Amino acid sequence: MALIPTHLPILMYHQVLPKTHPDFAKHIAIDPDDFRNHIQTLKNLGWKFKTVDQYFSEPAEVKVAILTFDDCASSFFDFGLPVIEEFGIKVSVFPIQNMTTHREYHNLSKDGVRGLTEDELKHIANLGHELGSHAQSHRNLHTIPFEEVTTELTESKAWLESITGKPVNTVCYPIGGIDQDIVELASKLGFKNGLSIFKCSLQVLPADRMKLRRVDIKHHTVGDKFLSAIGPFYGFRRFLTRPFRSKYRVDMRHPSFQ
Ligand SMILES: [Zn+2]
Repeated sequence: MALIPTHLPILMYHQVLPKTHPDFAKHIAIDPDDFRNHIQTLKNLGWKFKTVDQYFSEPAEVKVAILTFDDCASSFFDFGLPVIEEFGIKVSVFPIQNMTTHREYHNLSKDGVRGLTEDELKHIANLGHELGSHAQSHRNLHTIPFEEVTTELTESKAWLESITGKPVNTVCYPIGGIDQDIVELASKLGFKNGLSIFKCSLQVLPADRMKLRRVDIKHHTVGDKFLSAIGPFYGFRRFLTRPFRSKYRVDMRHPSFQ
């Protein structure tokens, strides 16, 4: 097992929406022009782009960055995907099942951003992007009974596989809620990669493969802030001190659910 951390920035985006859009403030969103600048900056610095699944299943290149999109809604389809296609890069997308099937999600407004349809998800997959599970209800898996965690992960995986006809190998734990039992369960259910919301661009591989760290991208992560976000020292202090802080330990399950 490698002891030297790999500098693998996995950027965590949510929605891509113009700053002028009435729903902009309701979401964790980035303006399409800022998003385009991010990709151009990474490209200029020599970074290559892969999906999570590609990173682990294809021969590794030296400088790889991964763009991930949580809770993808119509704003991703309308404003994010066109920019991604401009550059011809591949990304990993994590839709919430119930946002598509039951139109449920706390910050979707009536006439504004909506959940993606199954046809739109199919289109994204057909373009070669990775679709991964973000569970069904978007509840924190660490706080719900274990049987429900099993259902959330199993059903969301099967649902996406039925839409795309491709295996779903990556899980993105909603709200980052994980513990050791959830990580082990996800592996048992056939997931090969897992995304946490621990903030860091260094990964200790292969140990971290089911709980990969990410770079949190917000609307103000631009310019110099973006450059330091993709640098190896993003989250470095937390990375060093995390093992000593119980708050961030991927621990066993909460006693009340055992
Ligand atoms: Zn989410």
